[in-house]
Amino acid sequence: MKTKILEKFKTLYGEGAACYASPGRVNLIGEHTDYNMGFVMPGAIDKAIYVAIKPNGGTISHVYSVDYDEAVDLDFTGEKPAQQWACYVFGVVKEMEERGAKVPAFDMTFGGDVPLGAGLSSSAALESAVGFALNDTFNLGFTREELAKIGQMTEHHYIGVRCGIMDQFASLFGEKGKIVRLDCRSLEYKLEPFNPEAAGCKVVLFDTQVKHTLASSEYNVRRAQCEAGVAVVAKHVPGVESLRDVTMEMLDQYKDEMDEVVYRRCSFVINENQRLLDGCAALEQGDYVTFGQKVYGSHEGLSKWYEVSCKELDFLVDIARKNPGVLGARMMGGGFGGCTINIVKAEAYDAYVAEITEKFEKEFGRKPRVIEVVISQGAHKIE
Ligand code: ADP
Ligand code: MG
Repeated sequence: MKTKILEKFKTLYGEGAACYASPGRVNLIGEHTDYNMGFVMPGAIDKAIYVAIKPNGGTISHVYSVDYDEAVDLDFTGEKPAQQWACYVFGVVKEMEERGAKVPAFDMTFGGDVPLGAGLSSSAALESAVGFALNDTFNLGFTREELAKIGQMTEHHYIGVRCGIMDQFASLFGEKGKIVRLDCRSLEYKLEPFNPEAAGCKVVLFDTQVKHTLASSEYNVRRAQCEAGVAVVAKHVPGVESLRDVTMEMLDQYKDEMDEVVYRRCSFVINENQRLLDGCAALEQGDYVTFGQKVYGSHEGLSKWYEVSCKELDFLVDIARKNPGVLGARMMGGGFGGCTINIVKAEAYDAYVAEITEKFEKEFGRKPRVIEVVISQGAHKIE
């Protein structure tokens, strides 16, 4: 991939480009916890966006998308471009300028192998790769945390997606064999060991390739239900601002004052945070069996208590549960479609992939996309 990007740069703009990469991500445990000020647990993967870049000394920047085979001239004093992919580049530069940076004009080619729209956050990989490349090329002095915010705000202001900061954080802070335990309230993070290969395991995603339309409306409903639960507890307990501040004891104490559905939603979030912390403790002991149980627990909660799964995802996780070679599996992302993430013993891997593919096809008439991932290095320069 990197060679292809550099070759294209040479053809279009000549010699001397520097090359950078920033990866997509998976999330091991911690779904719907971000907006409740809880924890998430993403890791960078071995699929990335690659950027080749060189200052051009002019006033107009030239950017070429290898995957769309399309070139755009960018004038950062003008309007945002028509192509969405170019808006990510445009937005990153504008957000940097917003924070006082002077970004000279450049030539750029980019492309990657993060599957688009599969829940691996190709968009954050793109923002992070562009941000990291510009920052290094022009010595802009932004920290990785600032680059993450620049990426997040690019989505808010130039794409119209009001995302959290997890994806950019994973892409910028990820490391090989480590996941990023991120506290969404303080943005403090801790790298936790996650090296399933060393424990004789592999990580694989099965993409159902369904996206049920419920996703965005139900997302808003879930947020409101969490807020309703917080409001009840906050009437009694001073200082409670989010579900992060609420324990199961508190929730149970004031259960009678809230709707049963609100209670179920809130207990999922509180338990999901606890599962994540317990999962990290297990990883610190190298205990992938216990960790896998937490992953299964996360799916159970998402499916039965938070009710954001769908029949395709539940079907995949049911097969996983019955297979002794699978340590853990769950839906990944906001729900109502997308991928499952699976931790599988290496010796059981091939048979498991075959089993899933065959059974899914028999049930739904098409094969799921199989995406094997290895937890890898975050944003970096390629020498
Ligand atoms: P994801 O879940 O993968 O982040 P999004 O819809 O948020 O999905 O982002 C996908 C968008 O990001 C694409 O429509 C495109 O504009 C941009 N993008 C991602 N990867 C690439 C790529 N390799 N080349 C060009 N644009 C890309
Ligand atoms: Mg995205």
